[in-house]
Parts: sequence; C-alpha cells; structure tokens
Amino acid sequence: MASTSRITRTTRSMSFKARPSAFNANVTLYELAGKPSALPDLKRELETDESTPRKRQRTDASSPKKVAKGKKSPKKPKPIPQALSIPHPAPEKWREVYDTIKDMRSRMTAPVDKMGCDQAQHKESDPKNRRFATLVSLMLSSQTKDEVTDAAVTKLRAAVGGTLSVEAVIAADESVMSEAINKVGFWRRKTGYIKRATQMLHDDFDSDVPKTVDELCSLPGVGPKMAFLALQVAWDLNHGIGVDVHVHRITNRLGWHQKPTKNPEETRLNLQSWLPTEFHREINHMLVGFGQVICLPVGPRCDMCDLSTKGLCPSAQKAVKRSKRKVVVLDSPAKVKVELEVEEDIKYPNPPFDQESMRQLENTTKKEEDGDISIPTPKLEET
Ligand code: SF4
Repeated sequence: MASTSRITRTTRSMSFKARPSAFNANVTLYELAGKPSALPDLKRELETDESTPRKRQRTDASSPKKVAKGKKSPKKPKPIPQALSIPHPAPEKWREVYDTIKDMRSRMTAPVDKMGCDQAQHKESDPKNRRFATLVSLMLSSQTKDEVTDAAVTKLRAAVGGTLSVEAVIAADESVMSEAINKVGFWRRKTGYIKRATQMLHDDFDSDVPKTVDELCSLPGVGPKMAFLALQVAWDLNHGIGVDVHVHRITNRLGWHQKPTKNPEETRLNLQSWLPTEFHREINHMLVGFGQVICLPVGPRCDMCDLSTKGLCPSAQKAVKRSKRKVVVLDSPAKVKVELEVEEDIKYPNPPFDQESMRQLENTTKKEEDGDISIPTPKLEET
C-alpha cells in the first residue's frame, strides 16, 4: 500500500509540471533552438504538410478522443506568432540581392508562374468558389510538383461535378475524390483533410474561406504557409510571408539569418522582422520560381546565377567551366594526337557558415520537396 501511495503522489506531481512555452515573450527563437523540450510547441505551429498530421488530427472535430464529463474541453490551438520579441537585423546588401533575383526572375518562366495556387481560382466565377479553389489547391500542393497539383485540381473539379465548391465537395464521395487526386503526394491523407476542412468551412465559416491566419490554421491540413498564401491570393490580405521550403532554403543560402534557421517558421519570423511589408507578398512567388529553376535544392545552378558573378551569395558553389578544347599528346607508341576537353575551376568565396549545416539543410529540403524541381536545364532570356 505504501508503495502504491508513493507512485500516485509522484504521478500527480509530474502532471502539474509546467511546460515551457515556445513563444514566451522574453525568449527568442535562437534561445529556443538549443532546447529540444521547447520544440514541440513550435512544431505544432509549423506547416502541417505531411510531417505533423497526428498532432493536427487530435484537434479535429472527428478525433475519437472523448472529453470526460466535468472536465474542461481541449485547449484551443495557440495563435500563430506574428513577431519576434527582438527583431532580426536586416542583412547587409539585402536590397541589391533582392533586386538581382527579381531581375533574373523577370527573365525566366518557372512552373509556379503557370501552375501556382493563384491559377486555380481562374476556372471559377463565384467569388466564394474562387477562394475555395485556392485553398484546395494549396492543400494539394505540399510535397507535389506544381504541374501535378494543377492537374489534380482540374480532375477534382470534374469529379465533383464541374464546380469546386464547398457544397460539391461535401456531397462528393471520398473514393471519387481520392481517385481524382491520387497523383499528388499523400493523397489519401489529403482527401481526408479536404473533406473535414470543407465540412468545417460549411459549419463554422458560412461556406467560405476564413479571413484570419488562426482560423485558417484551425482547419485540418492547413499550416501557416498555406494560411498566409491563402489570405494573399483569396482575400488580397497581406498578413505575413508564406515561407515554404524554397524561401527557407534560399534565404539560408544567402546568409540572411544570423544563425541558419531550423524550420520555415523561424525563417518567416526573422524575415517579417526586417523585410519591408511591401515585399511580404511577392517574395514567396519570386523565390519559389528562383528555387525551381536556378537555386535548386541539390546542385544549384550557381554557374548561371547573377548573385555568384556579383559576389553577393556566400553559398555560391565552385562552378565547373568548360575551357576551349585543348590538344594533348598521349604518351603511346603511336604518339597519337587527340583533343580532350579540359575542365577549369572557377572559384567563388567560401560560405561564412559551416558546410555541414548547409549540407544538412540541402538534404532536408530535398526530402521535403521531393520532386519539386521541374526544369533541369534552365535558360535565362537575354535582356
Ligand atoms: S549563387 Fe548559387 S547558392 Fe547562391 S543564390 Fe545563386 S544559385 Fe543559389
């Protein structure tokens, strides 16, 4: 009996231990970076894409978790953080870098330009349906090539009767929806997310896309990146930067963060603290296209990037340039003359942070966006 009593007391005292808050007003994200125990709170706020579905499901209306009589209902999700307590300083020469990328983007067409989430709305005429199509497109887009997402939206629209509306998706059979979207990554899970999110839109938001980040993030399968992009495209509201793996990877390669950021949410909060608001909307589209064509997750085309020639990128990689054909005499009995191509190295400045961190970042982002590299041989138009 004595030992049982001790165990009970121990359990009780553990249950009252305070959990550290990831967004305590006096704690910066950098301080949090070294405290793994604080990360779960931060992770909950991250893009749900496919990496944290179980956590999101627990807050769903459909979750089997029951609330015992007399006990409080589950806590509401924490609001999405909007600002750092200590702003991140603006990186040196950021404007020159920004304008250089913008200039390169003006000379290239990337998949996101033709098949981004903003395109899905154009097939709908009703304003509510236009907003809904944008949200569905965003939900389908994670870990999927733009062209595959675009085709899936078209097939889904046809499968639910020709109009992508809340009512049509609620009425549609789940197996029919799955069949239509089965080329996108994690299509089974996304079918469930879209079904449940659509029902919530119907029940709680007058069958429309909500107008706040927190409300959008209360939908299953929707995280901050999708929420900020949905607000920009669907409602023309600029409440923050939509940071996906491209924005996360490229801003780290550019050395825009004092310490490399560990996830898109850290990247977003850093950027929002110094980048003028007028750029918050366009930076996602600009960097996504740049990341699809030039600054690829693996094997970035530094040889074609103006930032490397201008010495503006600390991560510019050693490029290999083909020199003129050179005659080499082989030391053989016949003394045959052959022409061989000789490769010549062009050296770029070394990155200011360690190569190992960058390698890890590249491996992570490659896994996350698996296949989101659509143009193998980029070509910039002449100005
Ligand atoms: S120089 Fe290379 S790493 Fe730097 S932004 Fe350009 S493509 Fe990316």
